[in-house]
Amino acid sequence: MIVKKVREEVAEEDMEELEVVYVPPPPPEEEDSIFSHYATGINFDKYDNILVDVSGDNPPQAIMTFEEAGLCETLSRNVSKSGYVKPTPVQKHGIPIIAAGRDLMACAQTGSGKTAAFLLPILQRLMEDGVAASRFSEVQEPEAIIVAPTRELINQIYLEARKFAFGTCVRTVVVYGGTSTGYTIREVLKGCSVLCGTPGRLLDIIGRGKVGLSKLRYLVLDEADRMLDMGFEPDMRKLVGSPGMPSKEERQTLMFSATYPEDIQRMAADFLKIDYLFLAVGQVGGACSDVEQQVLQVTQYSKREALMDILKTTGTERTMVFVETKRKADFIATFLCQENVPTTSIHGDREQREREQALTDFRTGKCPVLVATSVAARGLDIEHVQHVVNFDLPSGIDEYVHRIGRTGRCGNTGRAVSFFDPEADSPLARSLIKVLSGAQQEVPSWLEEIAGGAHGTTGFNPRGRVFASTDTRRREEARHQVSVPSSAADEDVWE
Ligand code: AMP
Repeated sequence: MIVKKVREEVAEEDMEELEVVYVPPPPPEEEDSIFSHYATGINFDKYDNILVDVSGDNPPQAIMTFEEAGLCETLSRNVSKSGYVKPTPVQKHGIPIIAAGRDLMACAQTGSGKTAAFLLPILQRLMEDGVAASRFSEVQEPEAIIVAPTRELINQIYLEARKFAFGTCVRTVVVYGGTSTGYTIREVLKGCSVLCGTPGRLLDIIGRGKVGLSKLRYLVLDEADRMLDMGFEPDMRKLVGSPGMPSKEERQTLMFSATYPEDIQRMAADFLKIDYLFLAVGQVGGACSDVEQQVLQVTQYSKREALMDILKTTGTERTMVFVETKRKADFIATFLCQENVPTTSIHGDREQREREQALTDFRTGKCPVLVATSVAARGLDIEHVQHVVNFDLPSGIDEYVHRIGRTGRCGNTGRAVSFFDPEADSPLARSLIKVLSGAQQEVPSWLEEIAGGAHGTTGFNPRGRVFASTDTRRREEARHQVSVPSSAADEDVWE
């Protein structure tokens, strides 16, 4: 929705135009929409069998039920209304760790409930201590800041936070690029206890003096490995170096992701207290085992035909098709539309209004096919996504793990088909095999052959005690799931 044109300087690195007038539609007000959720899948209970390891000194005892989390009545009610009956492993361990005031680096597979693992203990503490920063004021001083790499993901986290905080005096605000800065500032100034943002817009608002940091108690980095890779690391250092930002000793810093390349794990320790805990649910960097993975050998020239073959079988089931470049996203989306497949697309060159409309059209099923670049690879939790197609494989294995994690969420099953073009994708072969076998998936013999001479990567855990299970073989396998970080030179702009 456009209200008026506002001429502003835009600090976002991904914004070229000076006039950003987009005001996103307001979030839902009706309780039914706020709490609408999809059902957990047949494999939800299997989460309990996943190996969990907490490294570091004196980890608090895990909880087994939400009752043990000691949430206040309103929060407990909101958890029930969200359809949560029992916590997932990352919640069982993460909630008490955060409640105990410990810093945390947590790794758990895609779609396994990381968002609630950090939101619930934070909201509980804010409720317990009485929220300080929820009234109109010229400078807002949030007590929690949550950062994520993409606009759509941070908006999703905001809606989750708003849902859990429903009926409390905790006010949650979201700020992200591609929207009117004037609108953003007005929203912040209405009161802000929990501030969710993408890095560029967050730094902009802080730089304009609209947000003070002296009351900050929680800093959460979702998709933490992405937030600390070459693309975003400078912003994160700027954020923690901003005037008034409590030192790492004085704040609680929480990091969540499904992947943690070793160098990122090492660097993340710069942001965390020395006694932080490392929580690993399953294999660090491992794919969700509820996703059936298939790799097809397809040359560059036969990919479109292969895609059409797949889409003939998927009907109205939601399918995400990942490509490597923005131009290709447009090209493939246009091609599919010409073939009468209702398709939309999302990438960094589309206006924010178009990006949000694309997601809405995909969510509602108006366009059951979404062609996307890596901008949609992480975190997005969209009901009914049954299929992921890697039309182009990404250059890094972690990106692959996140992409296929758009399906098979919350115990539901899903399917991912990847087109492997030996000309372009051979460097990925070895790590792909590790991910496939780590998730008990069939490895094609031709892929083994291609992988022949390539080099693998090793795992790293700063606590030196990854996955303290008795099963050394699985531990070793898991260690090898960790790979190199995605490059800052990603073709698409994330934020
Ligand atoms: P997340 O990994 O945080 O994006 O969560 C994935 C999906 O699982 C979201 O739709 C959550 O609302 C849902 N979810 C998270 N935790 C639970 C739980 N304990 N019980 C049922 N659903 C959950």
